[in-house]
Amino acid sequence: MSPALRQKFVVGNWKMYTNAAEARQLAKAVVDGMGAEERVSVTLCPPFPYLALVGEILKGSGVALGAQNVYPEKEGAFTGEVSPTMLLDLGCKYVILGHSERRHKLGESDAFINQKVRVALADGLDVILCVGETLEQRKNNQTEALLDQQLTLGLAGVSADTLTRLSLAYEPVWAIGNLEHHATPQQAQDAHAVIRRRFGQIFGEKSAQELAIEYGGSVKPDNAAALFCRDGVDGALIGGASLHADQFLAIVRAAISTSLTQENSAKTAA
Ligand code: PEP
Repeated sequence: MSPALRQKFVVGNWKMYTNAAEARQLAKAVVDGMGAEERVSVTLCPPFPYLALVGEILKGSGVALGAQNVYPEKEGAFTGEVSPTMLLDLGCKYVILGHSERRHKLGESDAFINQKVRVALADGLDVILCVGETLEQRKNNQTEALLDQQLTLGLAGVSADTLTRLSLAYEPVWAIGNLEHHATPQQAQDAHAVIRRRFGQIFGEKSAQELAIEYGGSVKPDNAAALFCRDGVDGALIGGASLHADQFLAIVRAAISTSLTQENSAKTAA
């Protein structure tokens, strides 16, 4: 499948930011600014306590609701945790898993992330699985090996018939929330190619060509278009800039215009 035929995803990860009033205001501003655009898939992932109120605002709009985490059990004595069914009840379509902050600050292992991926997909959530190397791993030329490991372990046992509800996010740890280090579009494109190749080895070439891979790491309105026009970069997972409706919407617009350009070039080439 040519890149033009893969839909672009723009996902806002609000992390542990906003209060109720801010969450309401931000969600409203995104919905109002989006209009009826359907070319690009747009998702907001607020903190757990605001999922319900943001979900109400998103209802009937083209913007989807996502969660930032899930626990891989249906129910039980897991104090403080949230199940896939609860997220679905609240109207969540997506869940972000394997985010580097959960891997590195909260100690989540590939095995635990894999459990979450399998359970979330089996229970009906769409999963955005994040992978990415640290600066030290990049400097030591371990990027490819690390991506290979996170994909092999993170996707073990994932059923082929759930792959249409899976996307990946390449998030180099050194580029997240970082003003000094940014991945260049070429670095993003190269890493996405590594990820797609490995995915193809696991699930076959057709699934690899259909897979959306978002880039995450300090995506802003001024660098979004340069990333989106790269081969294999199918959108963005956005932290900091998603907390500002104007910046988030500018990134969505960049995704829309890149998609249009890519569609037109595909038509001309056909
Ligand atoms: C993220 O949280 O996934 C992220 C990419 O953050 P930021 O855009 O702030 O780098």
